[in-house]
Amino acid sequence: MKNKVIIITGAAMGLGLATAKVLAKKGANLVLVDYNEEALKNSAKEIQTNYPDIKVTTVKADVSDEAQVKNYIDVAFEEFGKIDGLYNNAGIEGRQASIVDYDMDVFKKVIDINLMGVYYGLRYVLPIMQKQNYGRIVNVASVGGIRGVINQMPYVASKHAVSGMTKNAAIEYGKYGILTNAIAPGAILTDMVANAFKQVNPEDPKAAEKEYASRNPTRALGDPKDVGSLVSFLISEENGYINGQTIAIDGGESNLY
Ligand code: NAD
Repeated sequence: MKNKVIIITGAAMGLGLATAKVLAKKGANLVLVDYNEEALKNSAKEIQTNYPDIKVTTVKADVSDEAQVKNYIDVAFEEFGKIDGLYNNAGIEGRQASIVDYDMDVFKKVIDINLMGVYYGLRYVLPIMQKQNYGRIVNVASVGGIRGVINQMPYVASKHAVSGMTKNAAIEYGKYGILTNAIAPGAILTDMVANAFKQVNPEDPKAAEKEYASRNPTRALGDPKDVGSLVSFLISEENGYINGQTIAIDGGESNLY
């Protein structure tokens, strides 16, 4: 990944940060984007300290705001003169509620961030990648982009849309050397998920985790680093021919009936 320029949205924590660390280790220069500026700066500082040979730039942006998305793409291009990869990762779950009870404002927010945020990223990065005749894009869907999840209708709708937009970008821009794929993570043990287990069972969070993991074919939760490894392959030149796929990274959970 040396000399490659990769943009990561939602980079301040969770899967975005884990992937940033994997890519930094492989020598990529990074443009880290998030709307949580303080956490973003701290994460960038940590990465820069551990990997002093790469360049790390941060841009505060809310991906649901088209102008702010255009700005992070512009900043990346002005700073590096090219964009090799976009990891379109920022997303939210929304609240859990039945279809008829779902709060409309939250519904729209989930769609604005998860669907429109990914679309704006595509809209502004594709023309640059087309001129370069090269680009790799990884959009973040979810197991909820493959099947339904009870009480999470807007999340499921937005993640199916991410999978659909991935297919369209793949077929419209493949001829310009641009490969677009999506990943569909299952339950990955980010800090947020680990904290949730602490709330479920403050005395023994590991027991809560084990109980949850017992439903997975591997009897384990995913490690954020596993997601980083998959993304680092899909967003690199090593991926020469995978295009328009939504790749589940869920221990096989989405195959359960
Ligand atoms: P997280 O909450 O730990 O991190 C998300 C990051 O995105 C945060 O830094 C947050 O500030 C940022 N963000 C959220 N909305 C934003 C916006 N509008 N503009 C800019 N930044 C924004 O979540 P995570 O678990 O790392 O999830 C990352 C992606 O992976 C999401 O798209 C999520 O839907 C997807 N996902 C996660 C899991 C999992 O198990 N962790 C499973 C399936 C899918």
